[in-house]
Amino acid sequence: MKPKSNASEFLKQMQRDLNPPQYEAATYTGGPLLVLAGAGSGKTRVITYRVAYLISVLGLAPWNVLAVTFTNKAAREMQERVQGLLGGMPRGLWIGTFHSICARILRMDGKAIGIDPNFVIYDTADQSAAVKRARAQCQMEKDNRVTPAQLLYQISRAKNRFEGPDEYAAKADSPFDQDVARIYAEYQKILRANRALDFDDLLLECVRLIRSVSSVGDVYRKRFHHILVDEYQDTNIPQSLLVRELARGHGQVCVVGDDDQSIYRWRGAAVENILFFGRDYADLKTVRLEQNYRSTQMILGAASGLIQHNKSRHVKTLWTEGETGEKAGIVRLPDEHSEAYWICGQAQRLHEGREKAAYGDMAIFYRINAQSRLFEEECARRGIPYTIVGGLAFYQRKEIKDVLAFARLLLNPADVVSFERIVNIPRRKLGEKTVQKLIHTAGDMNIPVLEAARRANEVGATAGLSPASRAGFEEFANLFEHWQSLAGRLPAYELVEKIVVESGYMKLLEESPDPQDEARVENVKELINSVALFEEKLETPAPLDTLSILQQYLENIALISDVDQMNESGDALILMTVHSAKGLEFPYVFMAGMEEGLFPYRRAVESPHPEDMEEERRLCYVGITRAKKAVYLTYADSRQLYNLREKTLPSRFIDEIPPKYREHIIWNTDLDSWDNEPDQREEQEESVPHTRSRRDNRFSPGDMVTHRTFGFGVVLEVDGEGDRSYITVEFQEVGRKVLAQQYAKLRKV
Ligand code: ATP
Ligand code: MG
Repeated sequence: MKPKSNASEFLKQMQRDLNPPQYEAATYTGGPLLVLAGAGSGKTRVITYRVAYLISVLGLAPWNVLAVTFTNKAAREMQERVQGLLGGMPRGLWIGTFHSICARILRMDGKAIGIDPNFVIYDTADQSAAVKRARAQCQMEKDNRVTPAQLLYQISRAKNRFEGPDEYAAKADSPFDQDVARIYAEYQKILRANRALDFDDLLLECVRLIRSVSSVGDVYRKRFHHILVDEYQDTNIPQSLLVRELARGHGQVCVVGDDDQSIYRWRGAAVENILFFGRDYADLKTVRLEQNYRSTQMILGAASGLIQHNKSRHVKTLWTEGETGEKAGIVRLPDEHSEAYWICGQAQRLHEGREKAAYGDMAIFYRINAQSRLFEEECARRGIPYTIVGGLAFYQRKEIKDVLAFARLLLNPADVVSFERIVNIPRRKLGEKTVQKLIHTAGDMNIPVLEAARRANEVGATAGLSPASRAGFEEFANLFEHWQSLAGRLPAYELVEKIVVESGYMKLLEESPDPQDEARVENVKELINSVALFEEKLETPAPLDTLSILQQYLENIALISDVDQMNESGDALILMTVHSAKGLEFPYVFMAGMEEGLFPYRRAVESPHPEDMEEERRLCYVGITRAKKAVYLTYADSRQLYNLREKTLPSRFIDEIPPKYREHIIWNTDLDSWDNEPDQREEQEESVPHTRSRRDNRFSPGDMVTHRTFGFGVVLEVDGEGDRSYITVEFQEVGRKVLAQQYAKLRKV
């Protein structure tokens, strides 16, 4: 690597790019350093410049520096920034998450404590499978006092206290705990036999290695002259121990963080690590950063006012020289559909209006993943490119594809792809080869594959199927025959519900110990919900039968998935949970679903522990402080999440934002069309209820109409019926526009 500039030039650049406390933090080398500072004050920037400073000015070799970030994405970004500052790639520099760094150390040197360099890393699903087997081996598979997920939670807690199975057993004072200890021991045996480490093991084994094998520990202690950690408020105990072990001797460790942004307590993060950092490090130097460079004064005021409602926190000052900006926009909407409609409409206005904002400069945050579906649909409908971060697009999720495969096969008994996907879910002991045999036979006989399954007994001889597989296929086909017979008598969503239940799919998810499957259950319910809503919206002259409704629904989805795929990259609106937004920034932020029970989430609302509510409030603080130019918080009067519509109350967090930093935006339906009107907000009393125009005059092509803004025009096309229809109008003055009838307030002339 060739440094772009010499040391003194780089120092000058640092003086320009950093304020005095930031500069001090980036260049301090007198020992342990803590930067405890609020959001957007440049903590990550300090770490980045510090890495470059150590290499470029102090002349450290890149491999002498270890920088730890919270996500892999953050690691990549830091790497690129450092590269830019240095004018080249510093070879040997380690920037990564704790898990990736530990995995790397263990691959290189884990042999010393008996770890195979080719170990595999078990994810949650693998862990669940392992703990189930462990339970079975202890002859406790029928024991339903705890679920596998709870067992894993216990095991993880024990590991994080550095208790192996023996220590756990020694401490176990109830027969129940002794049972857990036995399962824990078995679980570890299984992991070892499979040469596997789980996520906790990566950290623990690495700490053990560094601690217990001094020859290895010394190598790393000598190697990393400087250790830097971002987002230190969300580290857990083993992570803080690892830092301490590595820094033992030189003590050149710099951690940065914000206790107000600690949002992973539920996953074992210990905010005490940052609050009591000085306990473990003598001669600690603390630097505070108080200037925020990210957000407008209004956004900062809103966020600071909110977080002041937390009792247990370090009080921090945060100010900005930035613009005053606009107050946080609070938008009340009738329901979750109008919420998606409004947010995406606003995004479109920001994009097409005078702001000319790129879609990539906007993000929609939600509390839980199941909220994403409506935003996806609305984006797709409006042709807004979007990307989902940290989760699969709703309709591409495995569980959704599985359920849809049942529906597809019901409609099309010859759909081999769907057949293959689900014939063995839940398990019917139909192996890959057996399934292929049946598919071939169906092809030879020129009958639909589902038909072949139904006649498995008859065709089984030709296909060479065992009696067990014949029975399996018949059982599968009988289900479909049963659903066919129900088709005329049920609404489509009930049919889908029956499919999900009677196929055993729901049970499979519900009983799974994999925590991911909990979310899957919710997603499947959300899918059923979306069929119900789709059906509700159809206002066809003659009532359609169940199967044609289902058919239409599938078609509708197929279109959405196509749009998804087209827009995976480029300038796209970003959809993500608030949790995954940590550390990021966007000019425009929408926070959706600001309602009691959703954000703050149910669990915290019901919890007797005030800490739970404080964590939700920190999460909200993280969300708001991501915004640079504008933030909008939306809530709906009622929300149907899963299959239940409920009246909702606005989030307490909205009230906790001081009134001078927020304003209620009234949904001005006149402007809510697909044109590029500039955003016109009306400042009005907070309590003005949202009004929505409802007119039931119907339009047909050829009608002459007037619109308040666009004037006179002729209706060209009407898509859909009633309130939810879209009307294409050729206006005399402004040309062709597509308007939502519900909001367009067109008048016939
Ligand atoms: P968070 O708490 O959200 O992690 P942070 O404290 O890590 O935030 P950064 O992300 O480092 O803050 O900085 C916030 C924004 O302010 C970034 O866009 C960064 O480039 C900018 N910034 C930070 N310090 C300065 C500075 N001295 N001059 C100009 N811009 C700055
Ligand atoms: Mg940061």
